[in-house]
Amino acid sequence: MAAQLRFETPSSAQEAAVLLASAHGRGKVLAGGTDLLVQMRSGRITPELIVDVKNITEMVSVARESGGWRVGASVPCMQLARHPAFAQAMPGVVDGANWIGSIQVRSRASVGGNLCNASPAADSVPAMMAVKAVASVEGPNGRREVAVQDMPVAPGKTSLEPGELVVSIFFPDQPARSASAYVRFTPRTEMDIAVVGAGVALTLDEKGVCTDAKVCLGAVAERAIVVPEAAKALIGTTVGDDALSALAAAASAAARPIDDKRGTKAFRTRVVGVIAKRACIKALARAKGAQSHE
Ligand SMILES: Cc1cc2nc3c(=O)[nH]c(=O)nc-3n(C[C@H](O)[C@H](O)[C@H](O)COP(=O)(O)OP(=O)(O)OC[C@H]3O[C@@H](n4cnc5c(N)ncnc54)[C@H](O)[C@@H]3O)c2cc1C
Repeated sequence: MAAQLRFETPSSAQEAAVLLASAHGRGKVLAGGTDLLVQMRSGRITPELIVDVKNITEMVSVARESGGWRVGASVPCMQLARHPAFAQAMPGVVDGANWIGSIQVRSRASVGGNLCNASPAADSVPAMMAVKAVASVEGPNGRREVAVQDMPVAPGKTSLEPGELVVSIFFPDQPARSASAYVRFTPRTEMDIAVVGAGVALTLDEKGVCTDAKVCLGAVAERAIVVPEAAKALIGTTVGDDALSALAAAASAAARPIDDKRGTKAFRTRVVGVIAKRACIKALARAKGAQSHE
């Protein structure tokens, strides 16, 4: 006989971690449920314990903290996108969050769930990686910090240990004249997943020379990837046509996509260069227009 499904609603992250650890790998966090419920109903997963984390205040709040923004892992994407100060500070993350599903889906779906579901095509992940976001992870033995770029390891797999959950994500303030953007390619404008996606963050000096950059790609590898060669193509330049072409070439060279019904390897490899370039142009325009991020 199948074990009965337990449903718990803890009020602290530590309590949630202890509950998850007690389930010996058969426990699942429930945030918005837009991935979890689909997976359960299709029979892909059969958890014995569901831990609904939405009663944990720090997991559902957005707050200013010294040096950046702290976003609860289960804050719905819609709430994040409608937070004017966060949206101004982290426009690329909001671009990514705004691509997820429809208005109804985004009203429930969280960036923490998007990250922990570990789809290589997750839209908020390259954007969070580009701005050097850091996840705060609670486990049965306490808390640790993990760079968002180190969280996804393979399709459906994260670097979380048994019993661990992501409590919040810290977004460090970007220096003056910085901005970020996320662009994806998909045949439909909504309710489809990325064929390729690119998140770019960059910083300019007073003369418009790029002093720092990070370029991250989605849906072209087994996990979202950072492309240091693409960033190198921008740094030290005023991000003109030559730098943008070099960035596109580096993005295409780093891609190792699969063939599937959404696109062939050859198509994805070519298009990811174009999309990375577009994300960079969008970030550049924002950086030139940006006065302050507070
Ligand atoms: C119709 C539809 C369209 C969609 N379109 C897109 C799209 O365009 N782009 C896209 O990227 N995604 C899309 N998705 C997928 C989904 O909406 C997103 O991945 C969403 O961000 C998941 O967030 P959630 O809060 O609903 O996560 P849940 O479903 O609650 O959780 C997802 C997974 O992460 C785990 N988890 C959740 N939170 C934590 C945590 N804090 N710590 C540890 N583990 C955790 C859960 O146990 C589960 O395994 C779509 C889904 C649907 C149903």
